[in-house]
Amino acid sequence: MTSSAQRFTVGLTGGIGSGKTTVANLFGELGASLVDTDAIAHQLTAPGGLAIASIRAHFGAEFIDPQGAMDRARMRSHVFGNAGARQELEAILHPLIRSETVRAAEAAEGDYVIFVVPLLVESGTWVGRTSRILVVDCEEDVQIERVMRRNGLQRHEVEAIMAAQASRFARLAVADDVIENNGDSEALRAPVQALHARYLELMRAA
Ligand code: ADP
Repeated sequence: MTSSAQRFTVGLTGGIGSGKTTVANLFGELGASLVDTDAIAHQLTAPGGLAIASIRAHFGAEFIDPQGAMDRARMRSHVFGNAGARQELEAILHPLIRSETVRAAEAAEGDYVIFVVPLLVESGTWVGRTSRILVVDCEEDVQIERVMRRNGLQRHEVEAIMAAQASRFARLAVADDVIENNGDSEALRAPVQALHARYLELMRAA
């Protein structure tokens, strides 16, 4: 198998509720392998996760719950407004997320790999790491309605999350490819199929 450095890879991002997961799953149905960085980050801090020993050593046993997972609520309030603590946590998690995503990509057997990275633009370390960056884009009002429905949140709560994320403009500025997701989910199939065909072409030409 070729190494991940040579493989054709796509970084897929978009704002909360833009439809990243929905679009990624459609690519998955066509034969792409999906590597979900949020799921990997979650596994690292779940019971038995690779980050648990470092978190215990660095922050103390009180940040590990009785099941052996990171106590998310406690950690969230600890790093809230505490940039130093947040950076320390990120210094533990980010290299592990990176190595685990590489490992997952190397093990993937699909035609090519799509990394689903909600904070691709914000994290800064992804730009240049993949062959293409694909942004799922939609109108902010559509995004807000979807997240209110999916997560049972109030409008102002969704707006606060969106305000903490990169702007649409910043995401579109790094995009090689864009899929618009303002319509119904059936309308996604044709653009996903077209882009999948293009990715196979680019992969073979590389
Ligand atoms: P993200 O992963 O970017 O947060 P999701 O793919 O989870 O977004 O989509 C957010 C919510 O909106 C989900 O409940 C999903 O089922 C729904 N959704 C996504 N795209 C569409 C669409 N085109 N039409 C209707 N509902 C959609």
